[in-house]
Amino acid sequence: MASVLIALGGNVGDVRATFKKAIANICGMTQAVLVARSSDYTTPPWGDEQQAPFVNACIEIETSLDPHALLFTLHKIEKKFGRDRANERRWGPRTLDLDIIAYDDVGLQKPELTLPHPRLFERAFVLVPLAEITPDRSIAGKTPRDALIPLAKDGIERLPDIA
Ligand code: ATP
Ligand code: CA
Ligand code: CA
Repeated sequence: MASVLIALGGNVGDVRATFKKAIANICGMTQAVLVARSSDYTTPPWGDEQQAPFVNACIEIETSLDPHALLFTLHKIEKKFGRDRANERRWGPRTLDLDIIAYDDVGLQKPELTLPHPRLFERAFVLVPLAEITPDRSIAGKTPRDALIPLAKDGIERLPDIA
């Protein structure tokens, strides 16, 4: 089994409800065990500021799927929850984005799958939830806790738990 970190994001529809269902789907469709789930956070949009705030969270799972099979399944789940890649702009509004942040210590440099996620260390909206569940995991030689130190965290707020 591989230990995998996945980042969830979205800013269209009832994102928190989507996350809840998406996490159940991830576990069901990837034969995965949910090891940890962060709180949900409201975060300012990144890359394209002319859109609604996002909700972001991170999970840790254990799965026996290989990285490409896992990504394929995550894309299917995004689609199931209304993601329409054909009609969206880069870093624009979407119902659900599922990124593989790290897969064990695997390093991959392909356009269709780069591991660890290439923009992780620029993104407080990923590192804040990640630091909640796994502050000291070494990812490409850095921990989420340390990677967060130089980053601005303005506007990132933990949302109260929902039932
Ligand atoms: P970003 O990658 O900057 O977070 P994004 O999530 O908005 O942007 P998408 O349109 O969701 O980008 O995905 C573009 C492509 O990125 C996907 O088709 C996928 O094959 C590729 N990709 C590369 N590495 C990863 C990864 N670690 N996790 C998820 N997708 C990845
Ligand atoms: Ca993303
Ligand atoms: Ca993505």
